[in-house]
Amino acid sequence: MKTRPDLKQAESPAMQALRKQRIENRVKEIPKKYRKLYKKAMETNNEEAAIEALCLECICWQKKEVVNCSYLTCPLFGVRPYTRN
Ligand code: SF4
Repeated sequence: MKTRPDLKQAESPAMQALRKQRIENRVKEIPKKYRKLYKKAMETNNEEAAIEALCLECICWQKKEVVNCSYLTCPLFGVRPYTRN
């Protein structure tokens, strides 16, 4: 899995605190089974986790709908999760 360098160095302490609070609030709105994935995406800057979480969020956390996504011009279409054997 690809992991980006720690971006926290580029954020001010105030921005870090705001981001942390918003992530905590957002986690509460996400189906429990996907909270760990979301936190991984947000806290580790892992690109695969970020793509998976974004696609799931885009399609209301319905894994099957990510596979069936028909938005052919989305920049993530070719790398969306659950489509490779
Ligand atoms: S590929 Fe489909 S599911 Fe993923 S972000 Fe784009 S439109 Fe949403």
